[in-house]
Amino acid sequence: MKETFRTLPAHKNVALVAHDHKKSQLLDWVGRRAEALKLHHLYATGTTGTMLSRQVGLPVRCLMSGPMGGDQQLGALIAEGKIDVLIFFWDPLNAVPHDPDVKALLRLATVWNIPVATNMATADMLMDSMQMSKDFSISVPDYEGYLAERTKE
Ligand code: PGA
Repeated sequence: MKETFRTLPAHKNVALVAHDHKKSQLLDWVGRRAEALKLHHLYATGTTGTMLSRQVGLPVRCLMSGPMGGDQQLGALIAEGKIDVLIFFWDPLNAVPHDPDVKALLRLATVWNIPVATNMATADMLMDSMQMSKDFSISVPDYEGYLAERTKE
């Protein structure tokens, strides 16, 4: 497949998601990083986003709650190139009812090669990266080529 690129802009679309046992950790983290996060456009699943806007006071575009379809909405936005960074504090110690959706979200983030943090240390490193506030080019699948290959007669 031909290599193609997408530029993540300086002001990024950042998605924030936390499972229930990780919500307080994400809220603390966003509080600490609020100044830097203000420069970006924030998206979140329903419960996470509502808590974030209430408790940290940042503008957040809330999707549906994760188990009700929010993870899938985020996955669709990633496939459409509308999310640039995913910060997803998922819970490795407790089962969730929407495990297939969680997997699908992480899968699409990997397919489309966006930067993903699944824990606080990586989220801190991402936020401290110079690329966070600059245009940053990422390699993405050549979708046109992919489709042409699959539909060639
Ligand atoms: P929530 O969803 O923010 O609505 O709790 C998070 C998730 O489990 O995906």
